[in-house]
Amino acid sequence: MTRSVSRTAPGKVNLYFAVGPLRADGYHEVASLYAATDILERVTVSAGEQPGITQSMSVAPGSPVDQQVVAGAFDPALVPLDESNLAYRGAAAVLGEKDLSTTDIAVNLHIEKAVPVAGGMGGGSADAAAAMKAMNAYLVEAGLATSELPLERLLELAAPLGADVPFALLGGLAVGAGVGEKLTPMEIPEGVEPLRFGFVPSTSGLSTPAVFRELDDGRAAGRYPAPDAALEVPRDLIEALTTEAPLANRLPKIAALLRNDLAAPAVTLLPELELTLGSEAAKPQVAASFVSGSGPTVIKILF
Ligand code: ATP
Repeated sequence: MTRSVSRTAPGKVNLYFAVGPLRADGYHEVASLYAATDILERVTVSAGEQPGITQSMSVAPGSPVDQQVVAGAFDPALVPLDESNLAYRGAAAVLGEKDLSTTDIAVNLHIEKAVPVAGGMGGGSADAAAAMKAMNAYLVEAGLATSELPLERLLELAAPLGADVPFALLGGLAVGAGVGEKLTPMEIPEGVEPLRFGFVPSTSGLSTPAVFRELDDGRAAGRYPAPDAALEVPRDLIEALTTEAPLANRLPKIAALLRNDLAAPAVTLLPELELTLGSEAAKPQVAASFVSGSGPTVIKILF
């Protein structure tokens, strides 16, 4: 019998991203406010023929990645279907926790991409999270494990895979401390009108390490403001996102409190971003336009 299990995980936007100084270990402390988008990565684990894990990929029709494909701006070579793939690493982490190796099973991981690649929306991280959830369920279905790992354990296994992987498991709205992996979920009470996002994928990608490097170099040269002494997501922003007043009344405050320390370095590396940000912000249905994480996808908050 062919078994297959699919799970999804969301791409993210950072509504707030304050970056501390470069640490000795090469990472940065951040104060991040993550919001999940309704753009979902889907990973399917299905029974294969040969021992080991094979991988395949497709593009979700109508998704932002599909827009990039249509614009001739999607390079599948950017997503390596090998052991460095974050979906593979997520699946392998779950297997390891069950004392199984990748040759103890015979499966294919199919990744359906919807989140722009190298776009600052954590698409690879979402693949890792979706693969962890799918493999977790698959092992039980295939009789290779008696129970699923609890979410708390998945979150611990996720952190070493990347700062954004724990949030991709959790979704919703959350404050991220540490390098972004120490999460405090923010409850959005029922009845609170959610933000509506629009996405303008770029025709080129930006490398996250390169954008952080530009920030560090630019700070050292006085081109960007020095890091804040205390890294904190403003309470006012969280309150504006989680209170029941009509969204239209809350949007000006939300727009004024958005922040991303990586935006200026991203614009330095990809100057045409400034044009996109300006032209999107000028549209009547757009309350704010900004770069998420290291960019270059431009995110719009819609009225
Ligand atoms: P983040 O904002 O989390 O830093 P991003 O959204 O800018 O990341 P991703 O699409 O997650 O960028 O991928 C960045 C790089 O990670 C890619 O260029 C690719 O080399 C590598 N990668 C590994 N696995 C994947 C995957 N499943 N999907 C996309 N990229 C992957």
